[in-house]
Amino acid sequence: DTVINQIAAGEVIERPASVVKELVENALDAGASRIEVATAGGGLSLIRIIDNGSGITPDELPLAVSRHCTSKLSEDIHDIRSLGFRGEALPSIGSVARLSMRSRTQGADSAAEIGVEGGRVSSVRPVAANPGTTVEVRDLFFATPARLKFMKTERAETAAITEVVKRMALAFPEVRFSLSGTDRNSLELPSVSADGDGLLRRIAQVMGKEFSENALAIEAEREGVALSGYASIPSFTRGNAMQQYFYVNGRPVRDKQLAGAIRGAYMDVLPRDRHAVVALFLSLDPALVDVNVHPAKADVRFRDPGLVRGLIVGAIRHALETSGM
Ligand code: ADP
Ligand code: MG
Repeated sequence: DTVINQIAAGEVIERPASVVKELVENALDAGASRIEVATAGGGLSLIRIIDNGSGITPDELPLAVSRHCTSKLSEDIHDIRSLGFRGEALPSIGSVARLSMRSRTQGADSAAEIGVEGGRVSSVRPVAANPGTTVEVRDLFFATPARLKFMKTERAETAAITEVVKRMALAFPEVRFSLSGTDRNSLELPSVSADGDGLLRRIAQVMGKEFSENALAIEAEREGVALSGYASIPSFTRGNAMQQYFYVNGRPVRDKQLAGAIRGAYMDVLPRDRHAVVALFLSLDPALVDVNVHPAKADVRFRDPGLVRGLIVGAIRHALETSGM
């Protein structure tokens, strides 16, 4: 089983930032309103995530770290409301690192902890803890040294972790996030309201005031596909497309077609080597999109890619024109 889990880990867990993504998603699925992320050594020596979510009971702990045990499977694979549903993340992480999970359900008066080291699961022991869940991952990839060799510098891994937290934080403005580790990458994102005002404040927290105060508001709908969010004015550009945040039905995605639509929208106003900054949210019938093509890559397949592209290009061009740019 450890070997199967390590193979799965090769798919799901590419680098420390993938661990952070999976654990933050679990915390969000558990309904947490506060998520604290701490890292050391670019996430390779330590990743610790503390949430104040529902928690899980002591007898569920062994299941949580076993393969294909998920509490989230819905009958309809297209209608996935929660972020996780494969039951692969924890066993994968446990097979390549030293993982510990301690949890106390809301209202319970005791907590318990379980450990997994390179695939070996310990027994559940009682511990003292606040309601919610703390997951610690130490010595990532110690059990798969070949994978360790692929890691970039500590600084690059820390930057990737910061990106993951920012990306998730934009989708959940009402959740308070903090990230600590190195000063350069620490984040403190207080909770804001879940409405449009809150989103703009979260955008200011994550993407900076200069962007939030000058960005063009984007709003459009066509054939049941709704688009909203913000896109930068042509004078606010970047040398890479890192600051382009896309969400499909509340889930962060990275996708070449969406990046291509942005290039198309700004084609006449930006030189090829400059990139707009955007935070764009698409909502559409979940049956018309597949966001689970690959567990780690978060790319997306639309039933009608042309419609989505046209909607984005049209909405941004319209916003550029009406603002006189
Ligand atoms: P998935 O998220 O796909 O279900 P995971 O391996 O990520 O699979 O998690 C396995 C299970 O462990 C989850 O279905 C959930 O029941 C439980 N779990 C994991 N993290 C948390 C958490 N932070 N709070 C409460 N339950 C959790
Ligand atoms: Mg999960």
